Amino acid sequence: MNLENAEKHWDLVVIGGGITGAGILREAVRMGLKTVLFEKNDFAWGTSSRSSKFIHGGLRYLAEGRIFLTYDSVRNRQRLLREAPGLVEPVDFLVPVYKHFGPGRWTLQAALSIYDLMAGEKHHSYYDLEQFSNLIPQVQHKKLTGGYLFMDAQTDDARLVMRLINEAKAAGGTAFNYTGVTQIHRNDEGAVTGVEVEDTETRQTQTLSASAVINATGAWAEELHPSPKKHLHLRPLRGSHLLFPENRLPIKKAVTLIHPDDKRPMFIFPWEGVLLLGTTDLDHSQSMSIEPVMTREEADYMMTALTAYFPHARIRLKDAIASIAGVRPVLSKGDRPPSKESREYAVWVDKGLITVTGGKLTTFRSLARDALSAAKPFLPEHQGFAEHEPAFRQLPKTTTPPRGLSAEVWRRLCGRYGEDAEKIVTRADPKDLRPIENTFTLWAELPRLAETEDIRNLSDLLLRRVRIGLLTPGGGRHLLDWVQALCEPVMGWDKQRWKKERSAYIAHWEYAHRVPG
Ligand SMILES: Cc1cc2nc3c(=O)[nH]c(=O)nc-3n(C[C@H](O)[C@H](O)[C@H](O)COP(=O)(O)OP(=O)(O)OC[C@H]3O[C@@H](n4cnc5c(N)ncnc54)[C@H](O)[C@@H]3O)c2cc1C
Repeated sequence: MNLENAEKHWDLVVIGGGITGAGILREAVRMGLKTVLFEKNDFAWGTSSRSSKFIHGGLRYLAEGRIFLTYDSVRNRQRLLREAPGLVEPVDFLVPVYKHFGPGRWTLQAALSIYDLMAGEKHHSYYDLEQFSNLIPQVQHKKLTGGYLFMDAQTDDARLVMRLINEAKAAGGTAFNYTGVTQIHRNDEGAVTGVEVEDTETRQTQTLSASAVINATGAWAEELHPSPKKHLHLRPLRGSHLLFPENRLPIKKAVTLIHPDDKRPMFIFPWEGVLLLGTTDLDHSQSMSIEPVMTREEADYMMTALTAYFPHARIRLKDAIASIAGVRPVLSKGDRPPSKESREYAVWVDKGLITVTGGKLTTFRSLARDALSAAKPFLPEHQGFAEHEPAFRQLPKTTTPPRGLSAEVWRRLCGRYGEDAEKIVTRADPKDLRPIENTFTLWAELPRLAETEDIRNLSDLLLRRVRIGLLTPGGGRHLLDWVQALCEPVMGWDKQRWKKERSAYIAHWEYAHRVPG
């Protein structure tokens, strides 16, 4: 939709197109509110495409005594596993137990039992040295005494955001990417009356009126509204990941690593056909107005843990194919080391402007519920929060996947695209119903997303709608001829524009996703 033709009055304006904003848009539309979302970059451009992709309670938070956060996260995980098959899937974790290093057997046993109790299901088992070594022969054996296996869940974070936005739009909501909110308008009493928005490319502006505005801009939230608590402010903490080809270390489960230098938990895990190693947790001193990037120090730090746990695999930094850096929206009193900071969220209310920040990908529904409940006094009469409705529209269970697809591929497509999965498949040329090299993404996904998901540039398509720019070496530049051939007919870019887009994409990838050093 063009900004010029947009309605001039809204019940609710949501600022920020990450998981928090997308979750709020989805629920607000379901509650019958006329709602619009504005994202100043691309949807999921911020932290919500740069996470570790776990839908999890977080054992670390339990160990820190953050019982409610863990409980809320575990309950959200259980719901998403039921409501978003193919998008949120179980993942097995292995935790090696070493003599005199890291958490011991009984500490883990206690934590995992509480974790299971919260989920209402048993998901963990202990394995002795021999059994554990069979599960993961590559791991360091010196002083290994055994280990645990437990279950959590994993997603594609950017697709989780897009599925929420797409379902909200299908139900009557509106969302604009590349449109920033530049000002919040208030009347003489200070009550919010609307917003000023600007298309970041065309510089076209619009003044819109609104009954309430929710600021869901994550790590950027204090740019629109400073914290009302003098001693509590957003502390942007950077976390980075390295991506390796799966064949470099053939592990089928996520493995918890305790960093030998500072004893922080880290993970290496299979995701979408690659291995992700992460993450770091340090103060982000780069400017918040530019895309975050990983430093060489972070890469070296992560490689130290990887080499300590998998010394015989001889993995080097030069084996990595890409890097991702993101900034956590963490609320801080400024007196703790980064990894000890709370991942809880805050809701601030200021005369019709509700700011919601902090939290996790996993708890997006809880953030949406609390933000919408804080907005209630400013909104017109509407239905209550649909606590028991599934987050996503449930699809009819078809027994036979269409067009000879395997049950696994069809489940993945339905999880990512909901009802649109069928259109992707039925319109595809049979030769495009095969995966792009070393990934699970089908070629057929590209033209449909290029046509329907508000793509402004090639990075939107290759880094967020699908992730092949991160999953294939060099950002997938060797695939660009084929990407162009498939998407050209539906995108309306002429040859000149394609040429420009391709070089801009490569330059952007080199800046933001190449492996440092
Ligand atoms: C390394 C790392 C690993 C993580 N791993 C996990 C994990 O495994 N599981 C988990 O549950 N959580 C995880 N998290 C936390 C989780 O990713 C974040 O809590 C979540 O993504 C924050 O979402 P958000 O929507 O609040 O912010 P964002 O995703 O950052 O969205 C905010 C958006 O607001 C936009 N914006 C800013 N200003 C304006 C404006 N004026 N107008 C319009 N738009 C604006 C920005 O462009 C941005 O896209 C991780 C975080 C990091 C950094």
